[in-house]
Order: sequence, then C-alpha cells, then structure tokens
Amino acid sequence: MSLINLLDLLPAELEKLAETMGAPRYRGRQLAGWIYAKGVTDIRAMSDLPKDFREALAERAEIAVPEIERRTPSQDGSQKLVLILADGARVQSVLMPDEDRLTLCVSTQVGCGFACAFCLTGTMRLQRNLSVGEIVGQVLAARATLPEGARITHVVYMGMGEPLANYAATVKSLRLLTDPHALAFSPRRITVSTVGLVSGIEKLAKEDLKVNLAVSLHATSNAIRDRIMPVNKGFAIEELLAACRRFPLAFRQRMTFEYVLLDGVNDAPEDARRLVRLLKGIRARVNLIPFNDWEGSGFARPPLPRILAFQSILLEHGIRATVRWSKGEDIGAACGQLREAVTV
Ligand code: SAH
Repeated sequence: MSLINLLDLLPAELEKLAETMGAPRYRGRQLAGWIYAKGVTDIRAMSDLPKDFREALAERAEIAVPEIERRTPSQDGSQKLVLILADGARVQSVLMPDEDRLTLCVSTQVGCGFACAFCLTGTMRLQRNLSVGEIVGQVLAARATLPEGARITHVVYMGMGEPLANYAATVKSLRLLTDPHALAFSPRRITVSTVGLVSGIEKLAKEDLKVNLAVSLHATSNAIRDRIMPVNKGFAIEELLAACRRFPLAFRQRMTFEYVLLDGVNDAPEDARRLVRLLKGIRARVNLIPFNDWEGSGFARPPLPRILAFQSILLEHGIRATVRWSKGEDIGAACGQLREAVTV
C-alpha cells in the first residue's frame, strides 16, 4: 500500500485523519503545525504527539517533500531549483529576490500541453499533472534552503505547466498556501497565471480564493494569437476578455495581463493601441515581458526602443504597464525557459 502524502491534505483533513485513527482532532492541528510552521518532515520526530500515534501514522503516511537535485544561482540573485519527484520526473521552481520581496515561482505540471510557439516548456508536451503535495512541496523545499531569517513573501504559479489545466490540485494547493493553519500566505501575495482557459477562469471566479489572476494575452488579434498560442482556437480573445471582465476583483485589486514582446510579431504601435482598446473597462495592469530566447525558437526580442515605445503608448492611455526584465535568464530560469529531462 502506498503511503498517504500529508501534504495532499488540508489542516481540516489532517484533523479528520487523526480522528479516524482514534486520536482527538487537535492532533491534526498539531501535525499541521509541525509540517508548516516548523518544517519538520519526520513524523517520528514530532515530539509532542503520543508515541503510539506517531508510530501508527508513520506506517500509513509520510511528508514527501520533493528532493532538490540542483540549485543554480543566477548573477541577478535569483536561483533555479531543479526538483525530483517520487517517480523521477523533474520540475523547476525559481526563487527571485527583489528589494524587500522574495518570490517563489512554482510549477503545476511536468511539461505543458498548450504548446505556445515562443515557450520552451511547451516543447516538452504534457507529461503529467503535479499532485497537491508536489505543488505545496515546492514551497517547503525552497523554504528549507533559505538562510536564517529569510522568508518567501510571494508565490507565483508561473513555472512549468498550466495551473488551470490541473484545476483541482491547483485550487487545493492555493487553499493550503492560504490556510492560517498551513502556510498562511495572504491571498494577495499569490498570483495564478493562465494561458487563458475561459472555463477555468470562470470556475476560479467562484472559489472565493481572492488570489491574483494573471492572464497570458500576448496578442491583440485572433489571427496573431491563433498563430502563437494554439489555445486561442478554443477560446478567442473576445471570449477570454469577457470572462476577465466578470472575474471578481477586491477593492484596489487589479488583473494582470502578460504580454511577451516578440520582434515583428506583436510589438507594433498598432498592437499597443489595440491592447488599450481591448482592456477598456478592466482594472488591468500589463506586464510586458521582452522575449527570452532559446535555441531554435524562431523568435527574437525587439530592440529596446521598440519595447519602450510600446510601453509608452499604454502609459499615455492610463494603463499601468511595466517591463518585466525576467530573472534568471543566464541560468535558463527566465519566463518560458524552463525545461527538464523527464526521467532519471
Ligand atoms: N501556463 C501559464 C503559466 C506560465 S507563466 C501561462 O501561460 O500563463 C509563464 C509566462 O511566461 C507566461 O506568460 C508565458 O506566456 C511567458 N513566456 C513563455 N515563454 C516565454 C519566453 N520565451 N519569453 C518570455 N516569456 C515567455
């Protein structure tokens, strides 16, 4: 019989588990404290739990944190973590310090099935979904590498894979990240990025999670978006933006639109002006991501003046637009550069 990974369970489910084992519910709460507040992964070392309970639990359950195979620091201070999962599959997480923030970028799938033309992860195809514990485990594994006093302040679901295509595990991992008895992040410090799955956005809108949503738009006409993002053939821009308009935002919360700038493809002043029109009526922020190159991509990053001209048009029309110079480009950890061999 395979062991239950306790990282797959919410604190309330840990309480239930304790109860089914004949222990009081609060033992479940204590367990969550050991796992999430103290970072302890050895059940037998949880010293304030009765010995019998620890023994019985250790026979059925484990706390399976992915193992870090490699840590590659970048010159910009970010760090790529290559993690090995129980079946030998690998995923990557990226730690990105920025002033008073420390953001962790997590993966939700091994590979990705959406095949965006400019994205290296897309060339891996989808290998499999990650489990809840494998998503949450990335946070625990990354946290364990930090020096005393440092802590992860933000988590972005922008690593390998499409979070909304692994919907149930993504949502449950978000609940664990924000549960006060688990990782206790404020939902405002968490961002889920999607390729634009309308059905997923609509479901997420009803979850009352209050996390930030980022949408990878990357084009302003269906003709161009069809070409660079095959998902657009299923959910066209108008339909996607209609779902975005319906998505509930809290007071002062904004939806992020990501826009990778590809030389000669989607970076013309007309594109910027079309983008302004498309985003009318949405409380939006635009993240312009200059394309990060990879061998054989067939795309190029636009020259700097063209990037800044695109940004200026958005700003002139009152749209908050920042240029996101990706972190970790020198170590293959920047947006769209994550790829790993699948098995050991
Ligand atoms: N599947 C989700 C999560 C990935 S987030 C999504 O599509 O949003 C990673 C972001 O980096 C996405 O906006 C993606 O489109 C973008 N990206 C992919 N390849 C890139 C590249 N080569 N250069 C810059 N950005 C890229």
